[in-house]
Amino acid sequence: MDYKSLIRVIPDFPQPGISFKDITTLLKDGQAYKSAIDELAEFAKNKDIDLIAGPEARGFVVGAPLSYALGVGFVPIRKKGKLPAETIEASYDLEYGKDALAMHKDAIKPGQKVLIADDLLATGGTIQTTVELVKKLGGEIVGAAFLIELSYLKGRDKLKDIDVFSLVKY
Ligand code: 5GP
Repeated sequence: MDYKSLIRVIPDFPQPGISFKDITTLLKDGQAYKSAIDELAEFAKNKDIDLIAGPEARGFVVGAPLSYALGVGFVPIRKKGKLPAETIEASYDLEYGKDALAMHKDAIKPGQKVLIADDLLATGGTIQTTVELVKKLGGEIVGAAFLIELSYLKGRDKLKDIDVFSLVKY
C-alpha cells in the first residue's frame, strides 16, 4: 500500500520551518487505515504483549485499534492534568514546544510487557518520556510502533535498546 500518497504534507505548520505530516487524509481511507493497523499488528504479534501505551491524541488513533487487533489492553498517556486518578508525570521537549505527560499510577503492573504506539516519531522526545513513565511503573518495553518516522530528526537514536517499527519514513 502506498501510504505516503495518502499523507498530506503541510509546510510551515504549526510553525514556520515545520513540515507537518497530516495523517487525517490516511485515516479517512478505511482500507488504508485498516491495512496500516494490520501491518503494525504483524510487527507486534509475536512479542507476547500485555499492554499498549499511547500518548494523546494521535497515539490513541494508532494504539487503540492496535490493542483491539491484538486483544490486549490499552493505557492512555495524557497531557498533565487530564487523568482523574493518581498519576505519575514526566516532562518532555517536542519538535516544537515543551509539555508534561501523565499516566495512571496503577496502569501497569511490574513485569508487564508494553508496546508503545504513536502516529509519528520525530525527535523521539514524546516516546522517550512515555518509556520513562512505563519504566517507572516497572513495565518492560518490548517495542515501539509508528505510522511515520521522520528519519532526519534521528528519534531512533534516543530509543537505542528498543525494537522500533515505522510504516513510512521521510
Ligand atoms: P517527537 O516527540 O518525536 O519530537 O514528536 C512526536 C510527537 O509530536 C508525536 O506525538 C506526534 O503526534 C507529534 N508530531 C510532531 N510532528 C508531527 C507531524 O509532522 N505530524 C504529526 N501527525 N504529528 C507530529
